[in-house]
Amino acid sequence: MLYFYKNEFIKKEELRISPDDRGYYFGDGIYEVFRVYNGQIYEQEGHMQRLQRSASEVRIALPYKLEDIESILTKLVHENRLIEGTIYLQITRGEAPRAHPFPTEAHPILLAYCNEVKRPIATIRSGISAIALEDIRWLRCDLKTLNLLPNVMAKQAAIDHGVQEVVLHRNGIATECSASNLMMIKNNVLYTHPANNLILHGITRAVVLRIAKALQVEVHEEAFTLEQLLQADEAFITGTTVEITPIIQFDGKPIGAGEPGQLTLKLQEEFERTFAI
Ligand code: PMP
Repeated sequence: MLYFYKNEFIKKEELRISPDDRGYYFGDGIYEVFRVYNGQIYEQEGHMQRLQRSASEVRIALPYKLEDIESILTKLVHENRLIEGTIYLQITRGEAPRAHPFPTEAHPILLAYCNEVKRPIATIRSGISAIALEDIRWLRCDLKTLNLLPNVMAKQAAIDHGVQEVVLHRNGIATECSASNLMMIKNNVLYTHPANNLILHGITRAVVLRIAKALQVEVHEEAFTLEQLLQADEAFITGTTVEITPIIQFDGKPIGAGEPGQLTLKLQEEFERTFAI
């Protein structure tokens, strides 16, 4: 696999990362995960806009123009002959001896590479179980930064409880999941947390809301509680890699009939049709 690191395309074996990289010791950087279907980058523009916004909010200057970053991604897909998979891209503030203030001399560093990853078809079709967990993250969850320790801890908590995912909550209000957004359906209305500072503004969240509106489904970008989630007719998570994955059980109790719901199936079908996957 060919990687891109610090201005060049390079083999993984030849890539050297400095211990002075602020991404390495402070998590001082931002990232994106892109999906590739049929050799094409899915929703590239949305990802690029979010990357630009994360960079500007944490005051990292993008090392290249957006179109040059897009060319790097395209070249990675072509050179690695990627048909189905993901591209990971991160930009750190640069290399400097460890000290908290922004370094004056450092240049931001872009790392990008592809992975061959198949769609998680089994869970997309059969659904997953989730448990509730307190959302202990900071108050800028809208930024896609490298600081993912709470998300990693949350995902492991799910695995330790024998389920696949957690529903994060603040004082009983559901926000999102460890690496995906959360939606529920009650009486044919689709509810999801508003895109504010408490959740990541997911690309697939936006895609699903667009599809739902096109299908004339009523959409309320409104927060809901864990109790409301338990009483929901259907629930699912959305994300670049998980697409639309039903939640069929929450805190040990079935959601709706305990199987992927009708509207969820409809949204999945429309999603697959839209992206020809
Ligand atoms: N929330 C969190 C915390 C995430 O890590 C992700 C995955 N990047 C998402 C939501 C879903 O975002 P997207 O649809 O852009 O992948």
